[in-house]
Amino acid sequence: MASIRPSTHLADVRYEIRGALTRRARELEAAGRDIIKLNIGNPGRYGFDTPPHLREAIAGHLRDSEAYGHEQGLEAAREAIAAQQRARGARHVDVERIFIGNGVSELIDLSLRALLQPGDEVLLPSPDYPLWSAATILNGGQPRYYRCLAENGHQPDPDEIEALVTPRTRALVLINPNNPTGAIYPRALLERIVAVAARNDLLLLTDEIYDEILYDDMPFQPLAAVAGNLPCVSFGGLSKVHRACGYRVGWLSLSGEPARSAEYRDALQLLAALRLCANVTAQWAVIPALQDAPTITALTAPGGRLHEARQAVLDGVAASRYLELVSPAGALYAFPQVRAEAMPGFDDNAFALRLLEEEHVLVVPGSSFNVAASRHLRLTLLPQPAQLREVFVRIERVLARMAAQ
Ligand code: PLP
Repeated sequence: MASIRPSTHLADVRYEIRGALTRRARELEAAGRDIIKLNIGNPGRYGFDTPPHLREAIAGHLRDSEAYGHEQGLEAAREAIAAQQRARGARHVDVERIFIGNGVSELIDLSLRALLQPGDEVLLPSPDYPLWSAATILNGGQPRYYRCLAENGHQPDPDEIEALVTPRTRALVLINPNNPTGAIYPRALLERIVAVAARNDLLLLTDEIYDEILYDDMPFQPLAAVAGNLPCVSFGGLSKVHRACGYRVGWLSLSGEPARSAEYRDALQLLAALRLCANVTAQWAVIPALQDAPTITALTAPGGRLHEARQAVLDGVAASRYLELVSPAGALYAFPQVRAEAMPGFDDNAFALRLLEEEHVLVVPGSSFNVAASRHLRLTLLPQPAQLREVFVRIERVLARMAAQ
Protein backbone atom coordinates (compact mmCIF):
# COMPACT_ATOMS: atom_id res chain seq x y z
CA MET A 1 0.00 0.00 0.00
CA ALA A 2 1.26 3.47 -0.85
CA SER A 3 2.12 5.61 2.18
CA ILE A 4 0.08 8.72 2.97
CA ARG A 5 2.10 11.74 1.85
CA PRO A 6 1.61 15.05 3.68
CA SER A 7 1.00 18.30 1.82
CA THR A 8 4.00 19.90 0.14
CA HIS A 9 2.75 23.20 1.61
CA LEU A 10 4.43 22.10 4.82
CA ALA A 11 7.90 21.75 3.29
CA ASP A 12 9.18 25.09 4.63
CA VAL A 13 7.12 25.20 7.82
CA ARG A 14 8.96 24.87 11.15
CA TYR A 15 8.04 25.20 14.82
CA GLU A 16 11.12 24.15 16.77
CA ILE A 17 9.79 25.46 20.11
CA ARG A 18 8.01 22.08 20.22
CA GLY A 19 10.26 20.31 17.71
CA ALA A 20 12.90 17.55 17.65
CA LEU A 21 14.67 18.76 20.81
CA THR A 22 11.39 18.66 22.75
CA ARG A 23 10.73 15.13 21.56
CA ARG A 24 14.23 14.12 22.67
CA ALA A 25 13.59 15.77 26.06
CA ARG A 26 10.42 13.66 26.44
CA GLU A 27 12.45 10.50 25.71
CA LEU A 28 15.00 11.46 28.35
CA GLU A 29 12.19 12.08 30.84
CA ALA A 30 10.63 8.72 30.03
CA ALA A 31 14.06 7.20 30.79
CA GLY A 32 13.93 8.82 34.26
CA ARG A 33 15.96 12.01 33.70
CA ASP A 34 14.89 15.31 35.26
CA ILE A 35 14.84 17.92 32.49
CA ILE A 36 14.73 21.68 33.14
CA LYS A 37 12.45 22.87 30.35
CA LEU A 38 12.93 26.47 29.28
CA ASN A 39 11.45 26.16 25.81
CA ILE A 40 7.84 27.33 26.22
CA GLY A 41 6.39 30.50 27.74
CA ASN A 42 3.69 28.56 29.60
CA PRO A 43 3.17 30.21 33.02
CA GLY A 44 0.89 27.46 34.36
CA ARG A 45 3.75 24.95 34.14
CA TYR A 46 5.95 27.03 36.46
CA GLY A 47 3.57 27.55 39.36
CA PHE A 48 1.89 30.74 38.13
CA ASP A 49 -1.85 30.57 38.70
CA THR A 50 -4.55 32.19 36.61
CA PRO A 51 -6.06 34.98 38.75
CA PRO A 52 -8.93 33.36 40.73
CA HIS A 53 -11.54 35.92 39.62
CA LEU A 54 -11.02 34.83 35.99
CA ARG A 55 -11.56 31.21 36.98
CA GLU A 56 -14.69 32.16 38.93
CA ALA A 57 -16.10 34.10 35.98
CA ILE A 58 -15.85 30.95 33.88
CA ALA A 59 -17.32 28.73 36.59
CA GLY A 60 -20.26 31.10 37.02
CA HIS A 61 -21.11 30.92 33.31
CA LEU A 62 -20.84 27.21 32.55
CA ARG A 63 -24.59 26.97 31.94
CA ASP A 64 -24.42 29.93 29.51
CA SER A 65 -21.68 28.31 27.48
CA GLU A 66 -23.33 25.23 26.10
CA ALA A 67 -24.47 26.59 22.76
CA TYR A 68 -22.39 27.88 19.84
CA GLY A 69 -21.77 31.59 20.23
CA HIS A 70 -21.33 34.52 17.83
CA GLU A 71 -18.55 33.86 15.31
CA GLN A 72 -16.70 36.99 16.47
CA GLY A 73 -17.03 36.15 20.16
CA LEU A 74 -19.23 37.04 23.15
CA GLU A 75 -20.53 40.55 22.76
CA ALA A 76 -19.76 41.51 26.38
CA ALA A 77 -16.18 40.29 25.95
CA ARG A 78 -15.82 42.21 22.68
CA GLU A 79 -17.16 45.32 24.43
CA ALA A 80 -14.42 44.97 27.06
CA ILE A 81 -11.73 44.56 24.37
CA ALA A 82 -13.03 47.51 22.33
CA ALA A 83 -13.07 49.68 25.48
CA GLN A 84 -9.46 48.71 26.25
CA GLN A 85 -8.36 49.51 22.71
CA ARG A 86 -10.17 52.86 22.63
CA ALA A 87 -8.69 53.80 26.03
CA ARG A 88 -5.27 53.16 24.50
CA GLY A 89 -5.96 55.57 21.68
CA ALA A 90 -7.01 53.15 18.90
CA ARG A 91 -9.45 54.81 16.47
CA HIS A 92 -12.74 53.46 15.12
CA VAL A 93 -12.77 50.28 17.20
CA ASP A 94 -16.14 48.76 18.04
CA VAL A 95 -17.55 45.28 18.64
CA GLU A 96 -17.97 44.72 14.89
CA ARG A 97 -14.22 45.09 14.46
CA ILE A 98 -13.17 42.74 17.28
CA PHE A 99 -12.67 38.99 16.72
CA ILE A 100 -12.10 36.51 19.55
CA GLY A 101 -10.29 33.29 18.69
CA ASN A 102 -8.92 30.12 20.24
CA GLY A 103 -5.73 31.92 21.18
CA VAL A 104 -3.86 34.54 19.20
CA SER A 105 -2.45 31.56 17.28
CA GLU A 106 -5.73 30.93 15.49
CA LEU A 107 -6.16 34.62 14.69
CA ILE A 108 -2.66 35.04 13.25
CA ASP A 109 -3.57 32.37 10.70
CA LEU A 110 -7.00 33.86 10.08
CA SER A 111 -5.67 37.40 9.62
CA LEU A 112 -3.21 36.29 6.94
CA ARG A 113 -5.66 33.90 5.26
CA ALA A 114 -8.09 36.78 4.86
CA LEU A 115 -5.38 38.93 3.24
CA LEU A 116 -2.95 37.04 1.05
CA GLN A 117 -2.88 36.04 -2.60
CA PRO A 118 -0.27 33.46 -3.70
CA GLY A 119 3.13 35.17 -3.90
CA ASP A 120 2.21 38.18 -1.75
CA GLU A 121 4.99 39.28 0.55
CA VAL A 122 4.79 39.93 4.29
CA LEU A 123 7.45 41.87 6.16
CA LEU A 124 8.36 39.92 9.29
CA PRO A 125 10.91 40.54 12.02
CA SER A 126 14.00 38.36 12.23
CA PRO A 127 14.02 36.89 14.81
CA ASP A 128 10.27 36.25 14.69
CA TYR A 129 7.79 34.20 16.67
CA PRO A 130 7.86 31.35 14.15
CA LEU A 131 4.09 30.98 13.82
CA TRP A 132 4.16 34.26 11.87
CA SER A 133 6.46 32.76 9.23
CA ALA A 134 4.55 29.48 9.21
CA ALA A 135 1.16 31.15 8.79
CA THR A 136 2.52 33.39 6.01
CA ILE A 137 3.84 30.37 4.09
CA LEU A 138 0.76 28.20 4.70
CA ASN A 139 -1.43 30.98 3.30
CA GLY A 140 0.60 31.27 0.10
CA GLY A 141 2.69 34.27 1.16
CA GLN A 142 6.43 34.89 1.16
CA PRO A 143 8.16 36.07 4.33
CA ARG A 144 10.59 38.97 3.85
CA TYR A 145 12.65 39.53 6.97
CA TYR A 146 13.78 42.80 8.48
CA ARG A 147 16.53 42.39 11.07
CA CYS A 148 16.31 43.22 14.76
CA LEU A 149 19.99 42.81 15.59
CA ALA A 150 21.47 42.56 19.07
CA GLU A 151 23.95 45.33 18.22
CA ASN A 152 20.97 47.65 17.68
CA GLY A 153 19.33 46.60 20.94
CA HIS A 154 17.09 44.30 18.83
CA GLN A 155 15.29 47.39 17.46
CA PRO A 156 14.20 47.32 13.80
CA ASP A 157 15.50 49.87 11.29
CA PRO A 158 12.59 51.54 9.39
CA ASP A 159 14.89 52.33 6.43
CA GLU A 160 15.77 48.65 6.10
CA ILE A 161 12.08 47.77 6.30
CA GLU A 162 11.20 50.21 3.53
CA ALA A 163 14.04 48.95 1.33
CA LEU A 164 12.42 45.48 1.43
CA VAL A 165 9.08 46.70 0.05
CA THR A 166 8.18 45.48 -3.45
CA PRO A 167 4.95 45.75 -5.47
CA ARG A 168 3.97 42.40 -3.88
CA THR A 169 4.31 43.55 -0.27
CA ARG A 170 0.95 43.55 1.54
CA ALA A 171 1.61 43.67 5.25
CA LEU A 172 4.10 44.68 7.93
CA VAL A 173 4.21 42.63 11.13
CA LEU A 174 5.52 43.86 14.48
CA ILE A 175 5.90 41.82 17.66
CA ASN A 176 5.98 44.28 20.55
CA PRO A 177 6.99 43.51 23.31
CA ASN A 178 9.04 41.04 21.35
CA ASN A 179 9.31 37.29 21.60
CA PRO A 180 12.13 36.14 21.52
CA THR A 181 14.24 39.27 22.14
CA GLY A 182 12.28 41.05 24.92
CA ALA A 183 12.70 44.39 23.09
CA ILE A 184 9.99 47.01 23.33
CA TYR A 185 9.70 49.80 20.80
CA PRO A 186 9.61 53.52 21.59
CA ARG A 187 6.99 55.80 20.09
CA ALA A 188 9.43 57.60 17.78
CA LEU A 189 10.36 54.28 16.15
CA LEU A 190 6.70 53.29 15.80
CA GLU A 191 5.97 56.63 14.11
CA ARG A 192 8.64 55.91 11.49
CA ILE A 193 7.29 52.38 10.96
CA VAL A 194 3.73 53.70 10.55
CA ALA A 195 5.06 56.17 7.97
CA VAL A 196 6.58 53.27 5.99
CA ALA A 197 3.21 51.48 6.06
CA ALA A 198 1.37 54.64 5.01
CA ARG A 199 3.71 55.38 2.07
CA ASN A 200 3.46 51.81 0.78
CA ASP A 201 -0.19 50.91 1.51
CA LEU A 202 0.71 48.11 3.88
CA LEU A 203 -1.64 46.57 6.44
CA LEU A 204 -0.10 46.85 9.92
CA LEU A 205 -0.33 43.71 12.05
CA THR A 206 0.95 44.02 15.61
CA ASP A 207 1.28 41.08 17.98
CA GLU A 208 0.96 42.65 21.42
CA ILE A 209 0.26 39.51 23.46
CA TYR A 210 2.92 40.58 26.03
CA ASP A 211 1.58 44.15 26.30
CA GLU A 212 1.55 44.36 30.11
CA ILE A 213 4.72 42.33 30.79
CA LEU A 214 7.28 45.11 31.28
CA TYR A 215 10.36 45.14 33.54
CA ASP A 216 11.68 48.69 33.32
CA ASP A 217 10.25 52.19 33.31
CA MET A 218 9.81 52.27 29.54
CA PRO A 219 6.07 52.34 28.77
CA PHE A 220 4.48 50.04 26.20
CA GLN A 221 3.21 52.00 23.19
CA PRO A 222 0.27 50.38 21.37
CA LEU A 223 0.81 50.64 17.62
CA ALA A 224 -2.89 51.36 16.94
CA ALA A 225 -2.61 54.67 18.82
CA VAL A 226 0.24 55.75 16.55
CA ALA A 227 -1.37 54.37 13.37
CA GLY A 228 -4.43 56.65 13.76
CA ASN A 229 -6.61 56.26 10.68
CA LEU A 230 -4.32 53.73 9.02
CA PRO A 231 -5.72 50.16 9.09
CA CYS A 232 -4.04 48.28 11.91
CA VAL A 233 -4.72 44.83 13.36
CA SER A 234 -3.70 44.50 17.03
CA PHE A 235 -3.52 41.10 18.76
CA GLY A 236 -3.85 40.42 22.49
CA GLY A 237 -4.95 37.59 24.71
CA LEU A 238 -5.27 35.85 28.06
CA SER A 239 -2.35 33.43 27.68
CA LYS A 240 0.57 35.46 29.00
CA VAL A 241 -0.51 38.63 30.86
CA HIS A 242 -3.34 36.69 32.55
CA ARG A 243 -1.45 33.37 32.88
CA ALA A 244 -4.21 31.37 31.18
CA CYS A 245 -2.55 29.68 28.18
CA GLY A 246 -4.82 26.64 28.42
CA TYR A 247 -8.03 28.64 28.18
CA ARG A 248 -7.10 29.38 24.55
CA VAL A 249 -8.49 32.92 24.31
CA GLY A 250 -7.01 35.63 22.12
CA TRP A 251 -8.45 38.58 20.23
CA LEU A 252 -7.76 40.86 17.33
CA SER A 253 -8.92 44.41 17.01
CA LEU A 254 -9.15 46.25 13.71
CA SER A 255 -8.55 50.00 14.01
CA GLY A 256 -8.24 52.89 11.57
CA GLU A 257 -10.58 54.33 8.95
CA PRO A 258 -13.38 51.70 8.64
CA ALA A 259 -14.02 52.25 4.92
CA ARG A 260 -10.45 51.23 4.10
CA SER A 261 -10.74 47.84 5.80
CA ALA A 262 -14.45 47.05 5.31
CA GLU A 263 -13.88 44.23 2.81
CA TYR A 264 -11.06 42.81 4.87
CA ARG A 265 -13.30 42.86 7.96
CA ASP A 266 -15.98 40.94 6.05
CA ALA A 267 -13.38 38.36 4.97
CA LEU A 268 -12.37 37.90 8.61
CA GLN A 269 -16.01 37.40 9.55
CA LEU A 270 -16.49 34.75 6.86
CA LEU A 271 -13.42 32.83 8.02
CA ALA A 272 -14.52 33.16 11.65
CA ALA A 273 -17.95 31.82 10.73
CA LEU A 274 -16.46 28.81 8.94
CA ARG A 275 -15.00 27.66 12.25
CA LEU A 276 -18.31 28.51 13.98
CA CYS A 277 -16.95 30.22 17.12
CA ALA A 278 -14.15 30.19 19.66
CA ASN A 279 -14.47 28.22 22.89
CA VAL A 280 -17.39 30.01 24.52
CA THR A 281 -16.74 28.99 28.14
CA ALA A 282 -13.29 30.57 28.38
CA GLN A 283 -14.39 33.86 26.81
CA TRP A 284 -16.19 34.76 30.05
CA ALA A 285 -12.77 35.37 31.61
CA VAL A 286 -12.07 38.25 29.21
CA ILE A 287 -14.43 40.65 30.94
CA PRO A 288 -12.84 40.61 34.44
CA ALA A 289 -9.37 40.30 32.87
CA LEU A 290 -9.75 43.62 31.06
CA GLN A 291 -12.02 45.51 33.46
CA ASP A 292 -9.77 45.01 36.51
CA ALA A 293 -6.18 46.22 36.85
CA PRO A 294 -3.70 43.64 35.52
CA THR A 295 -2.26 41.46 38.29
CA ILE A 296 0.97 40.70 36.40
CA THR A 297 2.56 43.96 37.55
CA ALA A 298 3.14 42.46 41.03
CA LEU A 299 5.39 39.89 39.32
CA THR A 300 7.28 42.21 36.97
CA ALA A 301 7.98 45.07 39.44
CA PRO A 302 11.28 45.06 41.38
CA GLY A 303 11.07 42.28 43.98
CA GLY A 304 8.47 40.37 41.92
CA ARG A 305 9.30 36.86 40.77
CA LEU A 306 9.65 37.62 37.06
CA HIS A 307 11.79 40.67 37.76
CA GLU A 308 14.05 38.52 39.97
CA ALA A 309 14.18 35.87 37.27
CA ARG A 310 15.38 38.44 34.75
CA GLN A 311 18.02 39.52 37.27
CA ALA A 312 19.17 35.90 37.68
CA VAL A 313 19.62 35.70 33.90
CA LEU A 314 21.47 39.03 33.73
CA ASP A 315 23.78 37.84 36.54
CA GLY A 316 24.35 34.49 34.80
CA VAL A 317 25.33 36.26 31.58
CA ALA A 318 27.55 38.78 33.42
CA ALA A 319 29.44 35.90 35.05
CA SER A 320 29.87 34.03 31.76
CA ARG A 321 33.09 34.00 29.75
CA TYR A 322 31.13 33.45 26.54
CA LEU A 323 27.70 35.09 26.65
CA GLU A 324 26.26 38.54 26.08
CA LEU A 325 22.66 39.73 26.31
CA VAL A 326 20.52 42.75 25.51
CA SER A 327 18.53 43.00 28.73
CA PRO A 328 14.91 42.05 27.94
CA ALA A 329 12.62 45.00 28.71
CA GLY A 330 9.41 43.00 28.32
CA ALA A 331 7.80 39.59 27.55
CA LEU A 332 8.85 36.26 29.08
CA TYR A 333 12.20 35.43 27.47
CA ALA A 334 15.89 36.17 27.32
CA PHE A 335 17.82 35.83 24.05
CA PRO A 336 21.53 35.70 24.96
CA GLN A 337 24.19 35.00 22.37
CA VAL A 338 27.69 33.55 22.37
CA ARG A 339 30.21 36.28 21.53
CA ALA A 340 31.90 35.72 18.16
CA GLU A 341 35.39 36.30 19.53
CA ALA A 342 34.76 33.93 22.46
CA MET A 343 33.85 30.99 20.19
CA PRO A 344 34.14 31.65 16.43
CA GLY A 345 32.68 28.35 15.19
CA PHE A 346 29.69 28.28 17.56
CA ASP A 347 26.68 26.33 16.25
CA ASP A 348 23.48 27.04 18.20
CA ASN A 349 21.75 23.79 17.21
CA ALA A 350 24.70 21.63 18.21
CA PHE A 351 24.97 23.55 21.48
CA ALA A 352 21.27 23.15 22.36
CA LEU A 353 21.50 19.39 21.74
CA ARG A 354 24.58 19.06 23.94
CA LEU A 355 23.00 21.15 26.69
CA LEU A 356 20.04 18.78 26.68
CA GLU A 357 22.01 15.52 26.49
CA GLU A 358 24.82 16.48 28.87
CA GLU A 359 23.16 18.86 31.33
CA HIS A 360 19.43 18.13 30.93
CA VAL A 361 18.42 21.69 30.11
CA LEU A 362 16.07 22.36 27.18
CA VAL A 363 16.42 25.74 25.41
CA VAL A 364 15.49 26.80 21.86
CA PRO A 365 18.33 27.58 19.42
CA GLY A 366 18.13 31.10 17.99
CA SER A 367 17.99 29.82 14.41
CA SER A 368 14.52 28.41 15.20
CA PHE A 369 13.29 32.04 15.10
CA ASN A 370 14.24 32.58 11.47
CA VAL A 371 17.59 34.21 12.14
CA ALA A 372 20.42 33.54 9.70
CA ALA A 373 23.68 32.30 11.28
CA SER A 374 22.30 32.68 14.78
CA ARG A 375 24.59 32.54 17.82
CA HIS A 376 21.61 32.92 20.17
CA LEU A 377 19.57 30.72 22.46
CA ARG A 378 16.16 31.52 23.87
CA LEU A 379 15.07 30.65 27.36
CA THR A 380 11.96 31.57 29.28
CA LEU A 381 12.10 33.67 32.45
CA LEU A 382 9.32 31.64 34.10
CA PRO A 383 11.32 29.25 36.35
CA GLN A 384 12.28 30.17 39.91
CA PRO A 385 15.30 32.55 39.94
CA ALA A 386 17.37 29.93 41.81
CA GLN A 387 16.74 27.40 39.05
CA LEU A 388 17.78 29.94 36.41
CA ARG A 389 21.07 30.48 38.31
CA GLU A 390 21.67 26.72 38.17
CA VAL A 391 20.84 26.73 34.44
CA PHE A 392 23.61 29.27 33.77
CA VAL A 393 26.13 27.12 35.66
CA ARG A 394 25.21 24.23 33.36
CA ILE A 395 25.28 26.39 30.21
CA GLU A 396 28.76 27.59 31.14
CA ARG A 397 29.99 24.02 31.65
CA VAL A 398 28.87 23.01 28.14
CA LEU A 399 30.33 26.16 26.57
CA ALA A 400 33.65 25.53 28.34
CA ARG A 401 33.73 21.96 27.04
CA MET A 402 32.94 23.18 23.50
CA ALA A 403 35.66 25.84 23.73
CA ALA A 404 38.20 23.22 24.85
CA GLN A 405 37.56 20.99 21.82
N1 PLP B 1 2.28 35.51 19.64
C1 PLP B 1 3.42 35.45 20.33
C2 PLP B 1 4.47 36.49 20.10
C3 PLP B 1 3.65 34.40 21.23
O1 PLP B 1 4.79 34.35 21.90
C4 PLP B 1 2.65 33.41 21.39
C5 PLP B 1 2.87 32.26 22.29
O2 PLP B 1 3.93 32.04 22.83
C6 PLP B 1 1.47 33.52 20.67
C7 PLP B 1 1.32 34.59 19.80
C8 PLP B 1 0.37 32.53 20.79
O3 PLP B 1 -0.50 32.87 21.84
P1 PLP B 1 -1.87 32.14 22.15
O4 PLP B 1 -1.63 31.30 23.38
O5 PLP B 1 -2.84 33.24 22.42
O6 PLP B 1 -2.24 31.31 20.98
